Amino acid sequence: MALIVQKYGGTSVGTTERIRKVADNIAKFTKQGHQLIVAVSAQSGTTDNLIKLAGEVNDNPSGREMDMLLSTGEQITIALLAMALDKIGVPAISLTGPQMGILTDNAHTKARILSIDHSRIKKELNAGKVIIVAGFQGISEENEITTLGRGGSDTTAVAIAASIKADLCEIYTDVDGVYTADPRIVKNPSKLNVITYDEMLELASLGAKVLHPRSVEVAKIHNVPLSVRSSFETEKEGTFVVNKEGLEKNLVVTGVASDKNTAKIGIFDVPDTPGIAAKIFERLGQANVNVDMIIQSATRNKKVNDISFTVPKNDLYHAVDVIDSLQEEMGFGEVVCADDVAKISIVGAGMVSSPGVAAKMFTTLSNEGINIEMISTSEIKVSCVIKNYGDNVNKAVCSLHDAFDLDKIGK
Ligand code: ASP
Ligand code: MG
Repeated sequence: MALIVQKYGGTSVGTTERIRKVADNIAKFTKQGHQLIVAVSAQSGTTDNLIKLAGEVNDNPSGREMDMLLSTGEQITIALLAMALDKIGVPAISLTGPQMGILTDNAHTKARILSIDHSRIKKELNAGKVIIVAGFQGISEENEITTLGRGGSDTTAVAIAASIKADLCEIYTDVDGVYTADPRIVKNPSKLNVITYDEMLELASLGAKVLHPRSVEVAKIHNVPLSVRSSFETEKEGTFVVNKEGLEKNLVVTGVASDKNTAKIGIFDVPDTPGIAAKIFERLGQANVNVDMIIQSATRNKKVNDISFTVPKNDLYHAVDVIDSLQEEMGFGEVVCADDVAKISIVGAGMVSSPGVAAKMFTTLSNEGINIEMISTSEIKVSCVIKNYGDNVNKAVCSLHDAFDLDKIGK
């Protein structure tokens, strides 16, 4: 008997027929004697729709009321799924995040889970019930409903799995695993049987969108056995996300990702003295702006340098406000920003021991006539910011996928 956490995404519970299929899949596991906790998303389109409704009454709604609104989407699915399970004779109970004891900080619309109380979980599991929990939500110490950011149901599932030390955490979605590139962009991507947490983390935060980045972070920290698989073809094995040690040989390049939800900011003539960068990024952090690529140029005239960085598109104006408010105090020059950019990245745990990977990426982009505006590298990835116009971004992804022979992985 195993303790399994499953998560079903929006399309997997998109219709009542799909919800019945999910109930059947859950029943398959309970019949084998496993204990199950199931986190679910809102039905596909629901959260978007709620956001649209909010916009119709207020173009700048408070985070608290947004969370109050958005958390309702998941509440619909948990009740329907519990009813569907009851109908086929599987004892189940639906619980909201707060009922489940999911305590978060109070960063509305992007809260982080602080702890999960086990008392309710134990009680229901001991009573032989499948627990159906609303993903993406929790409760703050101030007793307010919070949500974890778009796509946050994955994080609910992984955090529960980590907290109760589940034997397995399965993320059911509308694709049958993690691919070397987005199948909507590339014609012949390969499915990966295994991927490391680090690679997945990069791909998740780079816009591959299979998993919520925070969920992979939590899985990595707590070593949660994680798999991504299809709720439409439940017989198919998905992709396992494992430790680097779990792989015999790391691939040089595992995937190519693009992220159009990015904007760049450049600050010119920043005085070259200790503490300036610290202050800029500390303020951005306090304002809850997620900063990604940071590039500082070499010092000019021994006095100033330029700092540029990227942020998610919807944080752009907020970030620019924060920077503007520092201008007088710090005495830097012009601040420029652009949101017509995208980030293209190649990821692979084997890159670190394989020279020439970055050069090959740059050559491939230049052969396509694509100009590189920013570059950043880590042990397992190379990212470039390019202009997002026409089919530039898709062209970049496809040519990199070809250049690194990613269609041939596992074949
Ligand atoms: N319903 C939320 C969203 O659409 C959370 C999730 O689906 O994971 O972002
Ligand atoms: Mg999702």
